[in-house]
Amino acid sequence: MRDDNCIFCKIAAGEIPSSTLYEDDMFRVILDLGPANPGHALILPKEHFKDVTELDEKYAAKILPLAAKIGTAQRKALGADGFNVVQNNGTAAGQTVFHFHVHIIPRYDSEAPMVAWNPGKYAEGEMEQTAEKIRKEI
Ligand code: 5GP
Ligand code: ZN
Repeated sequence: MRDDNCIFCKIAAGEIPSSTLYEDDMFRVILDLGPANPGHALILPKEHFKDVTELDEKYAAKILPLAAKIGTAQRKALGADGFNVVQNNGTAAGQTVFHFHVHIIPRYDSEAPMVAWNPGKYAEGEMEQTAEKIRKEI
């Protein structure tokens, strides 16, 4: 299925040009227009899924191996020391394009971490209460 109003559906189908790194019958991997670092890539499924909650399992099974292939190529081609695999779901999480995609961002030892948070602390009992709330919904 595709969404005619979705820019990533059009890019994935090749109707809007992109710097394509890789393509097969299920995915197109492109360079992000606003890269966190040069070589920042996006894995786009050729079918429209709004986010990971809609993603078909046959796509899901292929995404991490593909991310590893792209990250390995970034290391070899660009001398990257590592790479982040990032995937945002919902506006609160920073998603701006509502066609599922995975970011592969080349990273260097000389940089500060980009994907980072300040570790918080649970109050007494809060950790187990939180775990129980989530477990009930799984
Ligand atoms: P999100 O914030 O939804 O996880 O990521 C969307 C990403 O798509 C952003 O990093 C943005 O730079 C990139 N992007 C948005 N529109 C285009 C486009 O038309 N072409 C390309 N190559 N990247 C895009
Ligand atoms: Zn789409």
